[in-house]
Parts: sequence; C-alpha cells; structure tokens
Amino acid sequence: MSTKDFVEKDYYKVLGVPKDATEAEIKKAYRKLAREFHPDANKGDAKAEERFKEISEANDILGDAKRRKEYDEARALFGNGGFRPGPGGGGSFNFDLGDLFGGSHGQGGGAGGFGGGLGDVFGGLFNRGGTGTRTQPRRGQDIESEVTLSFTEAVDGATVPLRMSSQAPCKACSGTGDKNGTPRVCPTCVGTGQVSRGAGGGFSLTDPCADCKGRGLIAQDACDVCKGSGRATSARTMQVRIPAGVSDGQRIRLRGKGAPGEQGGPAGDLYVVVHVDAHPVFGRKGDNLTITVPVTFPEAALGGEIKVPTLGGPPVKLKLPAGTPNGRTMRARGKGAARKDGTRGDLLVTIEVLVPGDLSDKARQSLETYREATAGPDPRAELFQAAKGA
Ligand SMILES: [Zn+2]
Ligand SMILES: [Zn+2]
Repeated sequence: MSTKDFVEKDYYKVLGVPKDATEAEIKKAYRKLAREFHPDANKGDAKAEERFKEISEANDILGDAKRRKEYDEARALFGNGGFRPGPGGGGSFNFDLGDLFGGSHGQGGGAGGFGGGLGDVFGGLFNRGGTGTRTQPRRGQDIESEVTLSFTEAVDGATVPLRMSSQAPCKACSGTGDKNGTPRVCPTCVGTGQVSRGAGGGFSLTDPCADCKGRGLIAQDACDVCKGSGRATSARTMQVRIPAGVSDGQRIRLRGKGAPGEQGGPAGDLYVVVHVDAHPVFGRKGDNLTITVPVTFPEAALGGEIKVPTLGGPPVKLKLPAGTPNGRTMRARGKGAARKDGTRGDLLVTIEVLVPGDLSDKARQSLETYREATAGPDPRAELFQAAKGA
C-alpha cells in the first residue's frame, strides 16, 4: 500500500460509511457491497470487478484497526482528504460549468480535482519527517483562450467547446514523476527545490534546483510518460457557457479554472477572449441592437406602418409618423440583446429614405406633378444665407 493510495482513495466513501463508523458498521457495509459486486454474481462485468477490488481494498484497511488508524492519520495530514484526483487518476478536470459565471466558489475551493498536487502531499510528508523545508505553495498559471461566436450566439449566450492546454499532473504517475508513485527527496536541494549560488561580494542568488526542476522531489524510477517531471501538458476540450450579451473583444474571467496550483497553491484563472462575428443586418450598441431600414419616399412623407425584422424573433411593426426624415432613429422596446437581469435592450431602427433610381413613365409623371404641387421657396436659401454669415 503506497502513500499515494492512502491519499487518493477515500475508503469510507468506497464503503459508503461515515468517518466515525464503528467496526460493526464497516463490516456490515463491506459484506453487503461484496455480495453485490462479487465477480461470481457479475460474470464478465469489468466495472463490477473493479468495484469489488476497491471494496476489498477498503475493507483491508478500514477493517483492521491499526491500518485504519494509520490511514486516518495520513489523510488528516493532507487536509481532510482535500486532494481528490478524479476517476482517471491524477489530473481530471472537474469542470463545474454551472458555476462558471456564478463566482460563488472561492478560489481553489470546490473547484474540482485540483486541490493540490501530489507534490504537496509528499512535501508534507517529508516535512513531517524533518527533512528540510518544502517549497512554497504556488498558484497555478492563468490561461488565456479565445472563442469566436456568431453574432446571435453573442446576443443570446451560447455553450461552446473551448480547447485549451495546461500543465497538469501526469496521469500515468499521478504527478509524482515516479513509476511507482514513490519519489524521493532531491539530494541536491534537500527537498527545498532551490539552490543558492555565490554571486560575489558575499551575496548569493537562489535558483530553482536544476536536478528536480524546483519540485524538491526526484523520481527513483522515472515515469515513462513524463520522464520524471510529474507534469503533463494536457489539452482538453470543454464546454464553456458564454453568457448572453458579450461583446467583441470582451475578456471573461473564469476564476480557478486555469492551470492547477503547485504545492497546494490555488488554481489559476481562465480568461476567455471573445470574438464576435459581424451580422449582415444587425449591429450592437451595448444592450441595444441596431438596424437600418429602408423606406420609400411616400412611406416617409405620408407615414404608415412598416415591418422590421428582429434577431431570432418575429418581425415587429413600427408606426412611421407622416414626415419622418431620413436618418431618424426609432426604438422597438425589448427587442435588443439580453441583459444579465433577464430583461432585454431595445432595437434601434434607423430610417433610410430611398430615392428611386429607375422611374416608370407613370412614376415620372406623378413626380413632376408633385414638383409643381410643392413648388415654393428655394430649400437652400437659408443655407446660403448662413454660409455668408460667418
Ligand atoms: Zn532539487
Ligand atoms: Zn509521469
């Protein structure tokens, strides 16, 4: 039974009993589960077999008063079993998507499987043994990622796949760097992860230890996957909920969703830079959407009702007052982008009066009649007057 196993496995959970369960309760829970998952009763079921092994292992420890005590002590040392690797081993990323934007969790709190690396665990162990100081907790790196949304996704919010890579504990060795999960203290830096070198004049500089890459631990039998570093670059695609109403160029911060911390440090943050594709028709002004709507000269002059498209909804009818000038902006309430509080901005409709380019004979005649009917003072007289003024 390695220390790693002690730390990673919650045998109480495996047996479904409380931490203060009595011997009898443990025995009872074990018997019930063992019957249920016994290989004889689950022929060919690999999952059941795996579970049965777990159950037996848990019983081996918890069913033995002495071993149970050792186990409890080991776990108490590691912060109440705060280190919870996911089912895959060292570094599963338990992404709590519902929480992404709530900000209700403290950093490194319930954020997932990355409470602390095994380096922390071993650092703690060796520290207890009095073998030198361990390196300080280090906060995980912030990661920046980008996502491109369609105009509509940005307005309505969307769940999008986000591919990101980060440094994570190597899965093969659970971040220990050692094939068997039993690294030893680095002899060069005696577990501190740092070495001092003379810099002349009695000064000395501290550098990360080259032999252990600052981890303070060194593999006895280097893990084949990570070559003993204990770290792996893991690329993962996760589904990220982008809230409604983001705008182009906005940087969203997802607390504690960056790279995992080291030596028990909190995880870094994840920043997502949002790019929003332009829409052929709609524009954005904060919570409001914009659209330019062409109307004919008679519509503008005589007034009337026009239909205006909305983003993702049925068209709205707008009453055009008689004598609406070109460039006038009207407001369709509640037809804009969603706000955080669930209400919506407005749709700002800008009127563009069309000038016909190609006239039929009848239209031309009508316009000439119109010109005669509206003949009056020069519409530019005032302009000329004003131009002279200053
Ligand atoms: Zn070292
Ligand atoms: Zn490894």
